[in-house]
Amino acid sequence: QKPTVIITGTTSGVGLYAAKSLAQRGWFVVMACRDIPKMEQAAKELNIPRDNYSIEFIDLGSLDSVRRFVKNFRALGRSLTALVCNAAIYLPLLKEPLRSPDGYELSMATNHLGHFLLSNLLLEDLKNSPSPDRRLVILGTVTHNPDELGGKIPPRPDLGDLEGFAKGFKEPITMADGKKFESVKAYKDSKVCNVLTMRELHKRYHESTGITFTSLYPGCVADTPLFRNHYPFFQQFFPWFQKNITGGYVSQELAGERVAMVVADPQYRQSGAYWSWGNRQKKEGKSFVQRVSPQARDEERGEKMWEYSAKLVGLA
Ligand code: NDP
Repeated sequence: QKPTVIITGTTSGVGLYAAKSLAQRGWFVVMACRDIPKMEQAAKELNIPRDNYSIEFIDLGSLDSVRRFVKNFRALGRSLTALVCNAAIYLPLLKEPLRSPDGYELSMATNHLGHFLLSNLLLEDLKNSPSPDRRLVILGTVTHNPDELGGKIPPRPDLGDLEGFAKGFKEPITMADGKKFESVKAYKDSKVCNVLTMRELHKRYHESTGITFTSLYPGCVADTPLFRNHYPFFQQFFPWFQKNITGGYVSQELAGERVAMVVADPQYRQSGAYWSWGNRQKKEGKSFVQRVSPQARDEERGEKMWEYSAKLVGLA
């Protein structure tokens, strides 16, 4: 049997190109997405080998849907070699929070809580896989880290003491720290939670299971639909700025290839690592293990995040 990878959010951008790259390497890709016709179209357009993927419905914003997805995946009868938590929403112009069906602020619910539940449920499948090399990869981003240039632009992420999570994270609460709603910060906070989740998974399960837990920042993929909810001017300006001024721009193909490498290549089998690339825009730019932000390496905060998230998704 081909090694099987589940990737969330494969209709566009990084996830789509990661799926393409892994399918071309002979992996079987379970494309987990919420828009099936869009996915069918995208897979056709990129000529992804038909025998190497299936499309399964998931709405990461809904805990019920995540649970149903896991059931459906198990019904396929495939053993799981890798999971990539990639899907995300970014709603920078939003003034009032949107809510998930479970009542949580939507970007945190989609980017973090949905993936937190998915990772915890599929841990069992990764454990049961006969493959000696199983991996769980969560997409990070430079904006999670105020120690880096790309992370210095306000508003900065701040989980505080997770007061918002502690209080149940439902109306009128909108943010992890319980403070005022701020859509850009909500995205960045969710990415801090993604990195913390990877590190907690590593701490809790690497030794006992042998599973490799990693995160990566593939570079600034400035022209993906992630920015579709931004001002049209920003959508034009941002890729130009990243290509010509910061040099941080990375194509969707290259970003997808980097995800595929972290999933499949032997040199990325280092659990607990957060991978980044020097000379980001260059294909030969070297990867290295990068230190994550102070909040994302704070073990106490990681444990709190885990405990509260487990309650919010109904695992505790
Ligand atoms: P895209 O918007 O192109 O892709 C996001 C994917 O997530 C889409 O397939 C989208 O599906 C899916 N998605 C969103 N909400 C849900 C949901 N509720 N259920 C299921 N799927 C959902 O963005 P990118 O490719 O840029 O982003 C992918 C990842 O890379 C994210 O984790 C992001 O944080 C990270 N990243 C991106 C960077 C960049 O510069 N672009 C830089 C660093 C990290 P649909 O088509 O249905 O909306």
